[in-house]
Amino acid sequence: KLKTKLLFSTKDEVGSLAHAITDLGRELEEYRTNRREFFANISHELRTPISYIKGYSEVLRDGLVHNEKEREQYLSIITEESRRLTMLINDLFELAKMEEGKLELNYEWFDLGDVLTSSVKKVSLKAAEKKMDIRIDTSRDYPVLYTDGVRLEQILINLIENAIRYSNPESRVDIYTKVHKQSVEIFLHDYGMGIPEEDAPFVFERFYRVDKSRSRASGGTGLGLAIVKNLVELLGGKIDFRSISGEGTTFILSLPANEEVSKDK
Ligand code: ADP
Repeated sequence: KLKTKLLFSTKDEVGSLAHAITDLGRELEEYRTNRREFFANISHELRTPISYIKGYSEVLRDGLVHNEKEREQYLSIITEESRRLTMLINDLFELAKMEEGKLELNYEWFDLGDVLTSSVKKVSLKAAEKKMDIRIDTSRDYPVLYTDGVRLEQILINLIENAIRYSNPESRVDIYTKVHKQSVEIFLHDYGMGIPEEDAPFVFERFYRVDKSRSRASGGTGLGLAIVKNLVELLGGKIDFRSISGEGTTFILSLPANEEVSKDK
């Protein structure tokens, strides 16, 4: 999808054409560089878990293990890295489908409160591992949304998992909403490490990470937010965040909703 348009009037047509061609050339070059970078990233991301799996299975095969504890440790690395590979491949496949416009959406009416509750339930194990508390206000009425509930849940789970991943143990995540006439905003507020200002413009890019080692160690593929952004846009919404480094981050998800319709439902 090239953005440059060949627009020129009769006046100085040649000059305009030359400009347009230069722009087109620049855009093509940018596209090629992005593609190259993307494939370089993919091969790196795939190679890393494969090299762990290969390395540790060779150690096991060659009987270079000293005791049962070490054996268990190596086996769990192999399992974990296989899990990561599967996750990466699934994520890449999903992204490709989205970008080709081939992701099928199933629209239905969903109570936002139910979707929030079930998303929180699904991450409760991960939250418990870090002794974290995920809070939603259950005392209020939530709007009903015409959306793909499975995809919305996927978005929320991704954002909550990140909030858990980039927070210290025993911290918490607050989820709250604001209902407007044509939309609903969902706020996911964590008290974690935050996103430094200089990294902010890039976090939705594929494979961009503020801290590579931390993200890897805590199980991220680096594709989460790229997928989230794509999904949110497919659902007709918007996503943004505010963050203070060292204090926390608030992701703000805005989705189309109709107050009147919600009341009727
Ligand atoms: P990852 O698999 O690395 O988590 P994502 O695409 O989900 O990949 O996120 C990209 C990067 O954005 C992360 O590596 C992390 O540095 C940063 N990030 C995402 N969510 C948060 C958050 N809630 N708090 C702090 N940093 C975050």
